[in-house]
Amino acid sequence: MEITVMELHEITAQIDTKLAEGIIDGKAIANEIRANMKIEIDEKGLKPYLVTLLVGDDPASQVYVNFKEKACNAIGIKNNVYRLSKDTTEEELFAKIDELNNNEEVDGILLQLPLPDHLKEQDATMRIDPKKDVDGLHFVNQGKLWVGMPTFKSCTPWGSIELLKRAKVTLKGANAVVIGRSNLVGRPIVRMLEAENATVTLCHSRTVDLPSITRRADIIIAAAGRINLITEDMVSEGCVIIDVGINRNEAGKLVGDVDFENVKPKTSLITPVPGGVGPMTITMLLANTLLSYKRKIGLEN
Ligand code: NAP
Repeated sequence: MEITVMELHEITAQIDTKLAEGIIDGKAIANEIRANMKIEIDEKGLKPYLVTLLVGDDPASQVYVNFKEKACNAIGIKNNVYRLSKDTTEEELFAKIDELNNNEEVDGILLQLPLPDHLKEQDATMRIDPKKDVDGLHFVNQGKLWVGMPTFKSCTPWGSIELLKRAKVTLKGANAVVIGRSNLVGRPIVRMLEAENATVTLCHSRTVDLPSITRRADIIIAAAGRINLITEDMVSEGCVIIDVGINRNEAGKLVGDVDFENVKPKTSLITPVPGGVGPMTITMLLANTLLSYKRKIGLEN
């Protein structure tokens, strides 16, 4: 991927055009961030290295891993995928992780989830050296985020906040509502929004009267994985929405948690699905891998 100054200008112009139409274009914003990383890697001769561990033959995981490989190659991040059979034992998986933890050249280890049922995802994730946990899922990194120390921020939450920042949404003092409380998405988003001085309400499946809460929101981040969870009547005029959800509708089409067509006219800004948070997740993985390498060579803390 050769990026010229002209192309970067074009990407930036596209982001602005979409923002004027009320769309936060995650694909274009991701391209802009990736292009800038590529320029930095080339100019400074950086050599970050990401290893992905793929256990078993889950078809969706294969597709995600291919996306990640392509994204790394496009910006000059060396990468390798270790494909382990679905019968891999915990002992074998841990031995592989240990080997990568001890390999000085490796900057990032990505354990593609889900794992086959006989392997415990949490135990395997915690086996990764926190210094190489570029997914930001190790409790050491989640804990550092919580207490405000430099860390690897988990990729989807970081990507979601980055979209808000690049769209110049005012976070300080904003009334933000996050729907979904997983460790992967909702909880870290709450902490990141609070760090930006938003006032945050966290909702989940037992929340009583969700519409009365979302109607008071300046910003809604929907991460429940429920089609049409957010409808027009639940949103106030001028609200900003980040739709993290990925669902397939009856026609097999990818959709988010928001009834996009009917909700969009009431919003000031909204992310589409696909083309919103999704491209940002991989981009932040690349950013964390680059950060890990820079920490290794003493360019970053
Ligand atoms: P998850 O672990 O299943 O968590 C879903 C959360 O949503 C839970 O906290 C659940 O509440 C809450 N919830 C479910 N139904 C609800 C309802 N009707 N009202 C309010 N809250 C409700 O899912 P996840 O891993 O966080 O992922 C969430 C969504 O984001 C999924 O669609 C996933 O595919 C998508 N995702 C997208 C990306 C991306 O790159 N774009 C990355 C990761 C995930 P309880 O805790 O009470 O059960």
